[in-house]
Amino acid sequence: MERRTKIYEGKAKILYETDDPDLLIQYFKDEATAFNAQKRGIIEQKGVYNNRISSVLFTYLERRGVRTHFVKQLNDREMLVKRLAIIKIEVVIRNISAGSLSKRLGLPEGKPLPAPVLEFFYKDDALGDPMINDDHVRLLGLATPREVRAIRKRALVVNNLLRKFLDKRGLILVDFKLEFGRHRRQLLLGDEITPDGCRLWDKETLEKMDKDRFRRDLGKVEEAYQEVYRRITGSQLSADFGELSRAVGSRQKP
Ligand code: UDP
Repeated sequence: MERRTKIYEGKAKILYETDDPDLLIQYFKDEATAFNAQKRGIIEQKGVYNNRISSVLFTYLERRGVRTHFVKQLNDREMLVKRLAIIKIEVVIRNISAGSLSKRLGLPEGKPLPAPVLEFFYKDDALGDPMINDDHVRLLGLATPREVRAIRKRALVVNNLLRKFLDKRGLILVDFKLEFGRHRRQLLLGDEITPDGCRLWDKETLEKMDKDRFRRDLGKVEEAYQEVYRRITGSQLSADFGELSRAVGSRQKP
């Protein structure tokens, strides 16, 4: 698949067109940002870890009936995805209180929530991604009521599947962010599922294994990403790339 014009460069990823107008290449960078890009840095090899973590998780979800933009992993930093018209809503699903929920509602961090809590944020950096409700979604014309219902339902399905998958690998899914988009009139899960956009805690020690290590200067940032990668793929970096790539790549054809 040939990489053509760059059409978008974000904080952690770049999107390129390909020779197929329906498909894009999503390239994962090592750059990390936090607090609406006020804090910036590099997490060595993050792009490689995130590309593979996402590829494995999207493949897992697809096999269980969740439609995503993922087509296949191309190499260590690139995946082939379906072109989406992205819906400008960040969908956050929470199982345990942390981060902005703890701050906003005065809940101690680490309190298990009786049921998953779903929140919408308006994806707009200039506004600092404010929290919005269904009425705001309608007001701004971000998605139809039917799409909002589908997004809620799917986000909860993804939460259940990921929680189980990660629990088996010794990780607690505290909270995470999803993005959806439209492709040929279909609603698909897009973006990435990685420690950049998920809070993952070690089941035994409750140690943070995600971007909070970078946000809060906790140290051992690369090690945390590498460990999540190891648990999710069951392998060390470089040793088995060919094998993983073939396994992930062979399951989905555009
Ligand atoms: N999140 C994200 N991108 C954002 C904001 C949040 O991926 O722009 C993820 C974050 O990694 C966490 C979840 O969404 O897993 C909930 O984040 P929260 O609202 O607590 O905000 P934070 O404390 O990260 O500012």
